[in-house]
This record gives sequence, structure tokens and C-alpha cells, in this order.
Amino acid sequence: MAITKTDFMRGMQCPKMLWLDKHKPGLKVIPPEIQARLDAGNDFGDLAMGMFGPYEEMTVYLPGTTIPDKAAMLKRTQDHLAAGTPVICEAAFSNYNNYCAVDILRKTESGYDFYEVKNAPEVYPQFVKDTGFQYYIMARCGINIGKIFIVIHGPDENNPFVPVEVTMQAKSYYKWINDHIWDLNRMQKQAEEVDTEPGEQCSTPYECWYYGYCHGRKE
Ligand code: SF4
Repeated sequence: MAITKTDFMRGMQCPKMLWLDKHKPGLKVIPPEIQARLDAGNDFGDLAMGMFGPYEEMTVYLPGTTIPDKAAMLKRTQDHLAAGTPVICEAAFSNYNNYCAVDILRKTESGYDFYEVKNAPEVYPQFVKDTGFQYYIMARCGINIGKIFIVIHGPDENNPFVPVEVTMQAKSYYKWINDHIWDLNRMQKQAEEVDTEPGEQCSTPYECWYYGYCHGRKE
């Protein structure tokens, strides 16, 4: 078990949320409107892959499933980096097993820029932290990252992909991530359930899918 971008963000919202993800995921209740929003986000992300023209996608699934085959994705990404592929989508990186997949990695003269796609009308602070995590993993993998963008959903449906540069803010999260990732790694592996009192974190920045469990609601 290691830490992905999603793990890190969920663990920073509430350690118990991350622990439950790893040990009791069956307790999760995802409201239908949230699932619909997640699905729409995936569709928007798929369309955005072509925003710079031809691309290579790194997604590989374990046979007969829709579970990403991370080892195969890491290998495929390394092959395309070595080949100098100009646009790599779902590029996978791992550092001490901590893992991220990057929506769009675009080759530049000195390294790579990357783009995180969000089906949202503006850049929210949480999105910048997401890119900070990806930058952290890639920097530790020795990838020279230049600019970092969040692609939001603009008002023109004929051209909805609007990149917003967040390079400085995203890179400034490097120390914050390094200060917490190893503790989260240890905590998620512990056998006993994490004891966190419900509070503001149950709905900020995202509504927690274990709300019913922690608040004693019978679903
Ligand atoms: S409901 Fe609250 S306390 Fe329980 S896991 Fe979620 S955020 Fe943590």
C-alpha cells in the first residue's frame, strides 16, 4: 500500500477517511449526484486528451477488469518518455510506491509541462493541491517540469478546454506534501481503526462518503 493523489487529498481532509478507504471501503456511500458528477468529469477528461492533437494514452487495465494495471502503465510511460513522444496522456509515475497519473504531459525544449483536467468553471484551491502532488512525484522521479496548468471547463462548448497556469502555487506545495506523505503512508497501514472525531472536515472541502457511518446514521 502506498499513497496516490486521491489518497493524499482524502487523508489530508481526514485521516480516518483514508483508513476506511483502505480497510472498510464497503461502508462508503456515494450519492448518485456525486457519482454523476464524477462520470461527467471522466468524460470531459477523455475529450481533453485530444486538445493538443495526436497523443498516446498510457492507460492499461488488468485483464478482464477496469482496474488500472499500474506496473504496465509505469513501463509504458517510461517507454514513451524514452521515445520522445510529444503528448502523453495518463502518464504514470511512482516514487517509493507513491503514485500519480498525469492527465496530459506535453514535451517542451527543456522537459515537460503538464495539464490537470477538471470539469469545473473555475480553479479551486483543492485542484492546485492536486497538481502539487503530481509535481512532487514527478520531480522525485527526475522529470524536469516547467509549467503546470489546470484545464477548466470554459463557457464555449465548441472549445471548452481553458488552461489556467498554476506553476508557482503548485510547486510551492512540495514541502507540505513531503511533510505529510510518509505519516499518511504509515497510518493507512495500521491495523486498528483511526479514531477521529467528526467535525468540519466531514463536509469540507468535499462531503465525506462515510458520513453515515461516522455519524451513526442507519442507511
Ligand atoms: S465522516 Fe468525518 S470523521 Fe468520518 S471519515 Fe468522514 S470526514 Fe472523517
